[in-house]
Amino acid sequence: MNIAFLASEVIPYAKTGGLADVAGALPKFLSKLGAEVRVFMPLYREVRKKNLPLEPVLADASLDLGGKRVTFSVFAHRAGGLFVFFIDQAAYFDRDQLYGTAAGDYPDNAERFAFFSRASLETMRATGFRPDVVHGHDWQAAAAFAYLKFSYADDPFFVGTRSLFTIHNLAYQGLFEKDILGRIGLPESLFNMNDLEFYGKVNTLKAGILYATAVTTVSPRYSREIQTPEFGCGLDGLLRHRADALRGILNGVDYQDWDPATDRLIPRNFGPADLTGKKDCRAELVRMFGLEAPADLPVAGMVTRLAGQKGLDIVCEALDSLFGLGLTFVILGTGDPKIQDFLLAAQKRHPARLGLKIAFDERIAHTIYAGSDLFLIPSRYEPCGLTQMYALKYGTIPVVRATGGLDDSIQEYDPLAGRGNGFKFVEAAPEALLSAAARSVEAFRRPQAWPALVGNAMAADFSWERSAAAYLDLYKKIAATA
Ligand code: ADP
Repeated sequence: MNIAFLASEVIPYAKTGGLADVAGALPKFLSKLGAEVRVFMPLYREVRKKNLPLEPVLADASLDLGGKRVTFSVFAHRAGGLFVFFIDQAAYFDRDQLYGTAAGDYPDNAERFAFFSRASLETMRATGFRPDVVHGHDWQAAAAFAYLKFSYADDPFFVGTRSLFTIHNLAYQGLFEKDILGRIGLPESLFNMNDLEFYGKVNTLKAGILYATAVTTVSPRYSREIQTPEFGCGLDGLLRHRADALRGILNGVDYQDWDPATDRLIPRNFGPADLTGKKDCRAELVRMFGLEAPADLPVAGMVTRLAGQKGLDIVCEALDSLFGLGLTFVILGTGDPKIQDFLLAAQKRHPARLGLKIAFDERIAHTIYAGSDLFLIPSRYEPCGLTQMYALKYGTIPVVRATGGLDDSIQEYDPLAGRGNGFKFVEAAPEALLSAAARSVEAFRRPQAWPALVGNAMAADFSWERSAAAYLDLYKKIAATA
């Protein structure tokens, strides 16, 4: 079965969030199950700088994007079970960042990613890679579904091709002005409510939801949540309309990259049988951030985009009370300048209790997963969330809000039965967070209880095998539809 995977970020090449983790891992596991997967992504500057041995696939190719001739090249890279086609178009992708600068999104993002989608389809045809399923991810790849429906409808090459659209985060919809349709070569007649129009704008995500053969999200609970007005971001009606074609498949973890027994980015390795290495990781983390953390009280870590979605406002509001519970914090994140400023000011007030690094840094992230006792994820919504699954593997106990994939993957610890792998709260409010945090501190201080809880956490298995098998089943079902 041939699968064309379209994603705007893929580890180990370029990453801003969980999409990259999924797009770099799922294809490897699908290949192990016998699928032929080609991953398509843009050749960003960041990828260029890695000086990978890229194999030329297409030179001087070109396509028509709304009346404009755009030339491009394609390079391939095969490593670690991934087979990637990089779309090289310097004017669009040879830039410092993936999506924009601190000043905002790049103004031509609609063209950039529509071009990426179209060039990926053209590359399939030029290389003879005839996909049974085109699997596109998030709004950046969603134009592909409109092109398949409107530009390639009569193209014999794609006649047997079906499609799957995965929504990793419904809040990012790729909204642009009406005139974009013409500029990316789609019919202007699509500017109507039943197609791509959305409150006076063009909504790129709608192309995936409407025109793909089937739609998935990254957890079962999120697939239900997005059909409600509270989580539907204005698209809940449309998603209810497509409910029969919509389902949730929980993301997995690539334990090749995320295992404390083999992780090369952490100060000392450890496993469930011997946690001395974890103690050393905590000591190193505390030293790195210049903290004073009493041994009988937990260190709580966060690795996160600093965005409203992630519930940092709840943490900010509860911060002094959390210190009152005896917690020491380590936070790694980038994003919203307002949240950054608040945290920087809090750190000035509590330099020994709040370690803060405003950066995107893989090594520090791994050290936080390994060296913390608790991992805080108070998200307002969370399509899947990978960080709680990573934390579990490192014996770091998640304290999470019961939403989306967090609710699907974390079970409240029951001290009497000894079951559960974390602590959950329901209301998006500081009191609710505090109460869950208080339960976690209490458990930490009970030397009989804590190791059992850590054991439960480390035993949780979210390996990709299961999710990849679910995707493969779905591809087969989709491929068989008329
Ligand atoms: P989202 O995709 O919404 O940001 P996920 O939990 O699905 O959330 O995935 C986040 C991924 O990004 C994880 O791999 C996490 O470790 C990583 N990450 C987030 N912020 C940072 C950071 N500042 N530095 C390093 N890694 C980060």
